[in-house]
Amino acid sequence: MVISDTQSGLAMAIAVAMTESALFPPVVPLVSRNRYFTRKKLLKKLEANGNGARINALLDSMRASSPTRRPTDTEDHNSWILHHPSALNMFEEIMRASKGKQIVVFLDYDGTLSPIVEDPDRAFITTEMREAVRDVAKLFPTAIVSGRCRAKVYNFVRLSELYYAGSHGMDIKGPAKGHTHRKGNQTVLCQPAREFLPMIDEVYKALMENVKYIPGAKVENNKFCLSVHYRCVEEKKWGELGDQVKLVIKDYPQLRLTQGRKVLEIRPTIKWDKGNALEFLLESLGYAESDDVLPVYIGDDRTDEDAFRVLRERGQGLGILVSKTPKETNASYSLQEPSEASYAVPQTFGGVEEAVRTKALE
Ligand SMILES: [Mg+2]
Repeated sequence: MVISDTQSGLAMAIAVAMTESALFPPVVPLVSRNRYFTRKKLLKKLEANGNGARINALLDSMRASSPTRRPTDTEDHNSWILHHPSALNMFEEIMRASKGKQIVVFLDYDGTLSPIVEDPDRAFITTEMREAVRDVAKLFPTAIVSGRCRAKVYNFVRLSELYYAGSHGMDIKGPAKGHTHRKGNQTVLCQPAREFLPMIDEVYKALMENVKYIPGAKVENNKFCLSVHYRCVEEKKWGELGDQVKLVIKDYPQLRLTQGRKVLEIRPTIKWDKGNALEFLLESLGYAESDDVLPVYIGDDRTDEDAFRVLRERGQGLGILVSKTPKETNASYSLQEPSEASYAVPQTFGGVEEAVRTKALE
């Protein structure tokens, strides 16, 4: 279907969103000329091949996942927004879906609560966004789920009433004592990859050594995983960077390489991702098998897809992808950029709460 302009596309999207089955519209593959489709194939190839063959596809995959230029494709975008309507327009639907249910909010950090900036150490959250998150956490259990080290995310956000899942969910801690959404007296704590700590440290040092000659490359120690940022590396050096990373991790079959936006990530091979973190947190809150919960997850990255997929498999909750451009995703809704999240989050959830209160007074 071709929509002639964004306005009518959005109107149709909202109409679709209002239908009963719209919480989980089917995952719509993008047309083959779309580069994301190519990227998916590349990533599959990476996963299918052994370490030796990986690097051949790694550079292509780095380019595909971190485009420096992108052609405008109105047709693709309109078709995509039809299947992933803006979360800004979904208030009515959340109202309906949340009736009698406990909303639990999950938020990615980089690219969702903060903009993607050149220096990852300066990916600060704005005061408005912090206030928005604080307001939401007053109403609902709220968790930040990030690839970063938990302590670093906490230092950015600085809200002790939240759950924090750092290192892609491999380091989870609940709110400090005395907060509303804390479960009993027990501190929620989960670190399934603890035994990998010495190895991660060793690889961190080796990576620092190997990439120090590549201008702009930055290695970040996220405690249970490592990130090699290349957002400040010239594209002609990406191949060399990929080579160096591969050189280091080839001796560590217990570690695997994954990708985010302009970042290579090294993590333990254990099956534990943001999706597992979401499930662990729901279980900790007492909603493991419950139908009375509405998890809402907002994220911008490929790693957030694991959480979107869990929501889709549970047939429960709302996945919202922050993206300006069409992407293959398991999320059902979209936001264009982080600043929209600071607007959408309090408006939508605050609205839900107000409606619940009004209803109770009737
Ligand atoms: Mg992100």
